[in-house]
Amino acid sequence: MPQRIVAGNWKMNGSRAQLAAFLAALRQGWAEPRRCDVLLFPPALLVPEAIEPASALGIGVGMQTVHPEASGAFTGELAAEMAVDVGASWTLVGHSERRELCGESDEDVAARTVAALRAGLRPMLCVGETLEQRRAGNAETVVREQLEAVLAVVGDELAAGAVAYEPVWAIGTGETASPETAEAMHVAIRDILKARGPRLGMVPILYGGSVKPENAAALFAKEDIDGALVGGASLDAAAFLAIIAAMETHGNP
Ligand code: PEP
Repeated sequence: MPQRIVAGNWKMNGSRAQLAAFLAALRQGWAEPRRCDVLLFPPALLVPEAIEPASALGIGVGMQTVHPEASGAFTGELAAEMAVDVGASWTLVGHSERRELCGESDEDVAARTVAALRAGLRPMLCVGETLEQRRAGNAETVVREQLEAVLAVVGDELAAGAVAYEPVWAIGTGETASPETAEAMHVAIRDILKARGPRLGMVPILYGGSVKPENAAALFAKEDIDGALVGGASLDAAAFLAIIAAMETHGNP
């Protein structure tokens, strides 16, 4: 069975005080042993600060993005090597907000995935279609193209990471894909990965898009949904703990 993962993406939210309070609240409600992996993607400035208290709970900490190059004249950017240096273990690549707001193309996403793997960071590759693309009947084609653009460059090295299916129309909108809609895309993604060999067939496929305690159980009950990438609800420790508990109760063993 693929690894089960619940990951929180704080986007550009949070402060040192908020992070400390959040991790203290997680510690309070933490149940051992955990039967799924938990990851946190805070803003980059909070990553070094999160490492120690998160590691104490077995929570991995990751970057929301990394630059393709290892160093150089790229003012304001952060390299995957720098993230590893401060203790990060994962990075998101290709989040739809970066594709849309920062103009990241499939080629950029592939280059950032290469950078992550080069430095020893595990990439979580985000893919997903817009509402217009879904309405036009192109959802699967779009997701396949996004996935294959990266697979063409890194091949089965992506087995070190994960894929997050995040329909753009469901991110931060309160609108969740139905468990059936999400599962259908997860099966399509799994088929693409499996066709490239058994290592890729075991890559965890997470769902993301307005996941909350109220809808998590029904999503996790689906066979090919191996976890969740949670945005808004991950800022609330009680909600995040409830989503983790839903994964452990309703996810695949
Ligand atoms: C995300 O940021 O990846 C996300 C899925 O956000 P939200 O849960 O807020 O829709």
